[in-house]
Amino acid sequence: MARSAQPRPWAFSGRSLAALYLILTAGPVLLASLSGGLNSPTVYPVLARATGVAALAMFMMQFATSGRFEVISGRIGLDRTMGFHRLAAVGALWMILLHVVFFLFRGRDGSLDMLWQRLVLYITTPDLASGIVAAGLAVILVITGKRLRGRIIPYQAWRIGHGVLAVALVALSLQHAFTHARFMADPFGATAILAVALLALSSLLVVYVLRPLQAFRPDFRVESARTLSPSVAELVLTTDRPDRFSFAAGQFVWLTIGRRHTVTDNPFSIASAPSDLPRLRFLIRNAGDMTAAVPRLVPGTPVGVDGPHGSFTLDEAGPGPLLLLAGGIGIAPVMSLLGELAAARDTRPIRLIAGARGPQDHVIRGEIPPLMAGLDFGAIFLADRDGDREDYETGACSPDHVRRVLQGLDPGETTAFVCGPPPMMESAVAILLEAGLPLDGIVMERFDFDAGNDAVCHAVRRRFIALMATVFASVLSVALIAAA
Ligand SMILES: Cc1cc2nc3c(=O)[nH]c(=O)nc-3n(C[C@H](O)[C@H](O)[C@H](O)COP(=O)(O)OP(=O)(O)OC[C@H]3O[C@@H](n4cnc5c(N)ncnc54)[C@H](O)[C@@H]3O)c2cc1C
Repeated sequence: MARSAQPRPWAFSGRSLAALYLILTAGPVLLASLSGGLNSPTVYPVLARATGVAALAMFMMQFATSGRFEVISGRIGLDRTMGFHRLAAVGALWMILLHVVFFLFRGRDGSLDMLWQRLVLYITTPDLASGIVAAGLAVILVITGKRLRGRIIPYQAWRIGHGVLAVALVALSLQHAFTHARFMADPFGATAILAVALLALSSLLVVYVLRPLQAFRPDFRVESARTLSPSVAELVLTTDRPDRFSFAAGQFVWLTIGRRHTVTDNPFSIASAPSDLPRLRFLIRNAGDMTAAVPRLVPGTPVGVDGPHGSFTLDEAGPGPLLLLAGGIGIAPVMSLLGELAAARDTRPIRLIAGARGPQDHVIRGEIPPLMAGLDFGAIFLADRDGDREDYETGACSPDHVRRVLQGLDPGETTAFVCGPPPMMESAVAILLEAGLPLDGIVMERFDFDAGNDAVCHAVRRRFIALMATVFASVLSVALIAAA
């Protein structure tokens, strides 16, 4: 069986990540409660302090879950990491809201009039300004993260703004906590919060200092760039230092064109196999500013390559048959997997269903039959329009295509690799489950960070919500026990 050419770097499992998140967000509250840091004569201030500290820890953890750390996203995947990042931001915002609400209810008089007076008092107290601005920034970050990303504001400008606002939010919250909150006088609680702050700071240093330096270490430069179709370009990079870079088939890297800071880099799957090094090949669909400029890149242009990242690799496959499903430009990582399987003369049954808008959009179709010659390989090529030719069928991937391609194979033993546009991924997952593939036999790579609407995504989202509920339950119970 083909294995990745290079052992993947170690990464946390989903369960360990969940346990770590719980420890780092609810842990500081627990530590403070043990040494009396949450003590107060009434229950509401205790709840308010506990939720304030947890919200701060949760926001600081957002730096670690920003999708740049292989140790975090290596096993669960970038799309799930980003999905958790978004959900956790909303969770942290709810924690802030509870923090404010519990302080508003701190006195005996809970009338609306009194609550309003307290709110006005808090907003106009200069001491609390940093906390109030931080809460406002949290609202802006969550709203713009969902609504503005790549829409009203260009994607790269949004990304830089998002990072700057996040740093400001955490700096102001720390200032608020250490100058105002009584909790911070508690040595255990304060040390725990400082430890999480250190983790956030290290994440920033890695992303903005270490990675930019590392990305140019392998010394990649453009070998060639050309258009393959009106919407797809091919970019080939090469290096004289192949010893400084390795990857597993199916992984992706962040590319920075020209010798610039990597703050505006873009992710692309490697379409070539590890055995093709020192060359890296990419298939790039024109989606905006950076991708449109690819065909005009001049040979010799330096390119920063940060990676490899991702778990769309043969390490995820069992010993049974492999079914590769590619939609449009999703053929890029699938091509890398095919290259690796061909190089290893893999004996497993390998099946491919590749779809594209029209036959002319199957830009590398001609390369596949010679590459896979001699292997147990079968393929169906689909075109949304102008199919119905000897070598193409018209329409999207259907249960019938999957049934035909898996004929004589055991679906329960099959691993499917799926990459394509979100609607294709959603319908593919439903078809695969119906065909009898197990849920954990479906490996997916998403080219956008918006959560999908398929059974795999739903199962993952339920686990994220369960983790958030555990964090809230732990923080509130610790506070209530401390208050009692
Ligand atoms: C893991 C992964 C692998 C990918 N592999 C490929 C590939 O092999 N071939 C390919 O053609 N495309 C791939 N993409 C998509 C590719 O990254 C975007 O199309 C590209 O970054 C768009 O950049 P732009 O400047 O041309 O467009 P912009 O105008 O800047 O943005 C267009 C849209 O692209 C997305 N996008 C832009 N920048 C980024 C970024 N830094 N990170 C994530 N999304 C971004 C956003 O949804 C944005 O709205 C991949 C994406 C991911 C997440």
